[in-house]
Amino acid sequence: MRFTVPELPEVETVRRGLAPAMEGARFTKVETRRKDLRWPLPKDFIKRLEGQKVEGVGRRAKYLTVDVSSGDVLLMHLGMSGSFRVGRDQAGAYYHDKSKLAAHDHVVFHMSNGSVVTFNDPRRFGSMKIVPRARIDQEPLLRSIGPEPLGNEFDAAMLATACAGKRTSLKAALLDQRVVAGLGNIYVCEALFRARLSPKRVASTIAGRNGEPNDKARALVDAIKAVLNDAIKAGGSSLRDHRRADGSLGDFQHNFLVYDREGKPCPNGCKGKVKRIVQNGRSTFYCPGCQK
Ligand SMILES: [Zn+2]
Repeated sequence: MRFTVPELPEVETVRRGLAPAMEGARFTKVETRRKDLRWPLPKDFIKRLEGQKVEGVGRRAKYLTVDVSSGDVLLMHLGMSGSFRVGRDQAGAYYHDKSKLAAHDHVVFHMSNGSVVTFNDPRRFGSMKIVPRARIDQEPLLRSIGPEPLGNEFDAAMLATACAGKRTSLKAALLDQRVVAGLGNIYVCEALFRARLSPKRVASTIAGRNGEPNDKARALVDAIKAVLNDAIKAGGSSLRDHRRADGSLGDFQHNFLVYDREGKPCPNGCKGKVKRIVQNGRSTFYCPGCQK
């Protein structure tokens, strides 16, 4: 089995899957089957959640934010291989499942509406933390994260300002979470392809002399928003499929244009072939024929 590290669209899809199971319900029982995920769980984790009502399930960058009635926020990150499963509390049958899958079920939330939300994470790079809503702006995990790419404030001017003066590659700039939140290797490759910009281009070339956006910045912002919206739409359909199956959230089907398609003909029909190069230790897929 191959993991696709969740990026913003996958986390948004998970959020949409969790919301109906959790919003408006109370945590009746919280099970932690180990003391740590990527980091230790807070000692008072269970105490701060049990009995609390979920007021909303949100997302900031790749973090899920579960607001509870006490004013706390449960911050959750899927890491590399984390996923949630939504099931129903029924006669304990589910919990006696000794399948391989269940061995990696680390945290289980039993909700007052009968939903059971299980966090499974074989590689344990995921994390959970509780922070007071009032102090979320100072939360170190979130503090230096840049704008949400689907938010109105993220536009060509903002991206150009962030890239002006940057001598790194455009790909490296887009992977920098301070420049824009939630993008990873896959959607950066896909967005650059759609914008027909080379991943090797110097980041500052999408800005004019005074940091103003040029046509490349505008094309790139449009491409980023489009690729994320398309992926969220596709995630929505995979969500419906999973609902019919076992309720898993976090296993996605994708249709990429260039990512992981080395040697395939360019989907733009430019007669070029998708090429793989390594930038900062990670694979980049692009078409040298039409991405300049
Ligand atoms: Zn091409």
